[in-house]
Amino acid sequence: MAASGKLATFRMPPLPTVGELIKLYNLRAEKQLSQNFLLDLRLTDKIVRQAGNLNNAYVCEVGPGPGGLTRSILNAGAADLLVVEKDSRFIPGLKLLSEAAPGKLRIVHGDILTYRMDRGFPRSISKPWEEDPPNLHIIGNLPFNVSTPLMISWLENIANRTGPFAFGRTQLTLTFQKEVAERLTASTKSRQRSRLSIMAQYLCTVHSRFTIPGRAFVPKPEVDVGVVHFTPLVQPSIQQPFKMVEKVVRNIFQFRRKYCRRGIGMLFPEACRDAFTEELMRKADVEPTLRPTELTIPQVKALVDVYAHMCDRDPLLFGYDFREELRVKHLTKQRGAQTNDLEGSPRSPEQPD
Ligand code: SAM
Repeated sequence: MAASGKLATFRMPPLPTVGELIKLYNLRAEKQLSQNFLLDLRLTDKIVRQAGNLNNAYVCEVGPGPGGLTRSILNAGAADLLVVEKDSRFIPGLKLLSEAAPGKLRIVHGDILTYRMDRGFPRSISKPWEEDPPNLHIIGNLPFNVSTPLMISWLENIANRTGPFAFGRTQLTLTFQKEVAERLTASTKSRQRSRLSIMAQYLCTVHSRFTIPGRAFVPKPEVDVGVVHFTPLVQPSIQQPFKMVEKVVRNIFQFRRKYCRRGIGMLFPEACRDAFTEELMRKADVEPTLRPTELTIPQVKALVDVYAHMCDRDPLLFGYDFREELRVKHLTKQRGAQTNDLEGSPRSPEQPD
C-alpha cells in the first residue's frame, strides 16, 4: 500500500529517477550479486556512446539492475532492448521503464550465464560473418563476480559462432574491474599481459575506452572500473579449436615469471616432457627463454599450431593434464603415509572394520 501511495507521486511521464526507484522499491545493493549501481545518467550515456550508433539497434543489456544504463540505451534510439536480470527485486522498476517505452523493452528474469541469447532476437537481423557486424549490441555494467567466466564463455561462442554470435560479429561494450580491463587490452611485454589478453585478442579487436572512478558507483566498490569494447575479428589470429588454444595459453601462463618453456613443458607427461618441449619450441621457432608476457600472438599461434599437430600424431596427448598427474602422485603419497601410520600404530590391529 505504501509503495502504491508513493507511486502515485511518481506519475509517468516523467519517470521516477533511478535514485527514486531505488528508494521506492527499497533496493539495497546485494554484495553477493556484485551490485554497484550507476546513477549518474551522464556516465551511463557515455558508456552507451562507446557502443556506436544505436539508432534502431537491437541490444541485450546484462544486469540492468535499477535501470540507469537501460534508460541511456533507450534514449540512444534502440528499437529493441532485451534486458537479462537475475534479481527479482528489480523487475517492477524495469516494468515501469518498459511501460514508458512501449514495445521497446523486453525483460527476462534470468541468469545471463545460462540465457540462450541466440533465441532472443529475430534471425532476420543476422549478417554473414565476413560482413560488417549486425545491428545487435551487448552492453552491460557487469557484476564483477560474473564478468570473467562470462567473457570466457562469450569468447568461446565467438570462436564457434554460437550464442550471441550466431547473428554475426555482435559487438560488446562492457565494464570490468579496472585490473581485468587492463589484462584484456594488455599488449606484448606489458606487466598485465595474461591468459585473458591472448584469449580476447586472438578473437577480437579489443579497445579500452575509459575508466570510471569507483566513487561514481553506489555503493562504492574497492576498485575503479574500465569500459572495454570488443569487435570479433573476421579471421581469428589462431585457427585452432578454442579448447586447444585455451589449453596451451593456460599452460604458458601457469608460471608467468619463468621462461615460457616451463609452462609449455606442462603440456606433456613427465616421461617425455623435455624432448617434446624442445621439439615444440624448435618447430614453432619460439625462443624458450622468452617470458610468457613477452610472447606475441603470432608466436602463440605457432606454438598452438605445432601442439595441435603433435596431438594429431598422439591422440592421447590432448587429454593429458599435469594437475591430474600431480593429484595422483599426491594421493599415492598420502595413501602411503596413511598405510605407514596404520602399520606403525600400536592400536592398528585392534581397529574395527
Ligand atoms: N546495470 C546496473 C547499473 O549500472 O546500475 C546494475 C549494475 S550491478 C554491477 C550488476 C547487476 O547484474 C545487478 O543488477 C545484478 O543483480 C545483476 N546480476 C548479477 N548476476 C547476474 C547474472 N548471473 N545474470 C543476470 N544479472 C545478474
